[in-house]
Amino acid sequence: MSADAALLKSLCLAPGPTGFEAPAQEVVRRRLAPLGEVQVDPLGNVWLDVGPAGDQQVVVTAHADQIGLIVTYVDDHGYASVEKIGGVAPLLVPGRHFVIHGAGGPVHAVGGKKPTHLIPADERDKAPALAEQFLDIGASSREAALERVAVGDPITFTPEFIELSPGVFGTQALDDRAGVYCLVRALELYAAEPGAARLSGVSTVHEETTFMGAKAQAKRLTPAVMIVVDADFCSDTPAADAKKLAGEVKLGAGPVLGRGAGSNQRLLAIAREVAAAEGIPVQLKAAPEAMSTDADELMAAGAAATLSLSLPVRYMHSPLEVAHGDDLEAAAHLIAALARRVGQDGAPESFVPRI
Ligand SMILES: [Zn+2]
Repeated sequence: MSADAALLKSLCLAPGPTGFEAPAQEVVRRRLAPLGEVQVDPLGNVWLDVGPAGDQQVVVTAHADQIGLIVTYVDDHGYASVEKIGGVAPLLVPGRHFVIHGAGGPVHAVGGKKPTHLIPADERDKAPALAEQFLDIGASSREAALERVAVGDPITFTPEFIELSPGVFGTQALDDRAGVYCLVRALELYAAEPGAARLSGVSTVHEETTFMGAKAQAKRLTPAVMIVVDADFCSDTPAADAKKLAGEVKLGAGPVLGRGAGSNQRLLAIAREVAAAEGIPVQLKAAPEAMSTDADELMAAGAAATLSLSLPVRYMHSPLEVAHGDDLEAAAHLIAALARRVGQDGAPESFVPRI
């Protein structure tokens, strides 16, 4: 099940920090338009329903926003001060390539830093607080800088897309454009071979900061089943530890099913059956507490049995995250197959927890 690398690339390289998701959502909207009427709300959520209208509805969600920075101030010399959007560690800024998305087009910027020689030895391994850092766009003055950038412009990391090994991709924003990729592909697969349930795919906004997109959608949606797709930490690098990450997650070993507070247990059992029947490899991970994903907000609405389905991603919240295309494509097939299964047999499945 090799991935559509062109789709993944166009999703990941579309700039869309929280609050500025429109370019990423436009990629989603354009790709889904041939399947039906794509809908949007003022917050920026984008969704499409495929399959027959009926009692049973399955919703799959993934968040379109990514972490980034935002311009807060431009000084007399043309340097831009920034604040983070979502979880950006200060050590990711010095010496890095950024793109400021100005009204007139992209502006390249470098994260300014003290020459290493001038940093006291005991401070060389630390990054200054973000408030003490700045981006350099090569402008000679405040006036010159303000011709290209403005307060409130969003900023993203280096727009690179690299294939490290066949099917293994390094790029920005895999959290959670990898999930959006699965959502889009699941809708395509389901539209080509629909079951009795209606499958709705919702690309949400504002997950990295306030979960506002999911909160708004939770008021609209009343499905029987909800599948929330997000990135999860891999434990298979020297920088990670399966014991401390509460489980083993390997790149290329299939999508990850959360077992615990993030998933309805009956739905999880059905997902595992469907995966086995379809020959789709899956990994299991304990979910001991809140998921810190859209699942928390959507589950609180109470109407749906929810499945937390995650994608193995290395180096989360960094300029180059890494994912395996096979995991993404496998997740898309699992979602489509699970939606067909939920619609089977007419009588709705009971998801009420029981012993
Ligand atoms: Zn995420």
